[in-house]
Amino acid sequence: MKAFEFHRARSIDDALGCAAQPGAQYLAGGTNLVDLMKCDVERPSAVVDINRLDLSDIEATPTGGVMIGALATNTAVANHPLIRRKYPVLAQAILSGATTQIRNRATAAGNLMQRTRCRYFMDPALGACNKRHPGSGCAALAEHHREHAVFGASRSCVAVHPSDMAVALTSLDATIHLRGLGGVRTVRIGEFFRLPAERPDIDNTVRPGELITGIELPASGTSHASWYLKLRDRHSYAFALVSVAVGLDIRDGVIADATIVLGAVAAAPWRVPAAEDLLHGNPPGRSVFEAAASAALTGAQPLPHNGFKVDLGMHAVVRALTLAAEGP
Ligand code: SF4
Repeated sequence: MKAFEFHRARSIDDALGCAAQPGAQYLAGGTNLVDLMKCDVERPSAVVDINRLDLSDIEATPTGGVMIGALATNTAVANHPLIRRKYPVLAQAILSGATTQIRNRATAAGNLMQRTRCRYFMDPALGACNKRHPGSGCAALAEHHREHAVFGASRSCVAVHPSDMAVALTSLDATIHLRGLGGVRTVRIGEFFRLPAERPDIDNTVRPGELITGIELPASGTSHASWYLKLRDRHSYAFALVSVAVGLDIRDGVIADATIVLGAVAAAPWRVPAAEDLLHGNPPGRSVFEAAASAALTGAQPLPHNGFKVDLGMHAVVRALTLAAEGP
């Protein structure tokens, strides 16, 4: 591991000042960053510990939504009464990931900032990786890519984002609150993650030195009839092969609004508006769910070893919509 400076921030301003140093990184739960530092993938010049900042609250907003503090642990978010009552899809997604011990440490902001689990990114001994070393190549393209992207990839990178929570947050149209030395700003989650194009080393639209301070959930008509379905090689402690978060607003027996977001198919949660539109104005049922599932996977570009994700994704969409429509 490369030597680094260590700062324990006393305030947000103190953290922002420390992180202004090129190559500095924030440390919260450390469940991803520390692993990557140990295997020399992440080599920060300085680590800014933000665990003492007052950013752990989860509270209702005046507009009927909920604000989740950046340092709220995954366990705290998933078990909070407001989240369980108003946004059960988020609790489901979080509880489907990692282990109890990791969820007790990992934070809401850290969950968004975690990096891909592509084996070539995680282990420099295995092969070239443009995300780790821009311009070096992508070993996954010619070798192991069973878990990789079927949407939004490029010849530079075919990795997927590993977060379950981000898929649910996208279905809820969350807003990310950020603070930097230049002030505060917000980013809708649909604009938070970047697709790889020619720069797979840049995962998201967070600017250097910026700190996520919170994640805001709006009041939502689709948050109650919702479901998060995660399909994976084993039932616990595994990343998704395909996941889907769905939400339905059913009024007088007709779908008035719908959200469908696929996970583990791209470098960002993959919302499918064309599939959502197919549901509008129809009563919930298998035939319309199958039509939406087919639309959701239209345009997929699988690699030689991950074509199964297209079929799996369609089944996942039908199953999740069925479970959401049935209700809790
Ligand atoms: Fe690296 Fe992306 Fe290729 Fe994986 S898919 S080896 S993360 S460039």
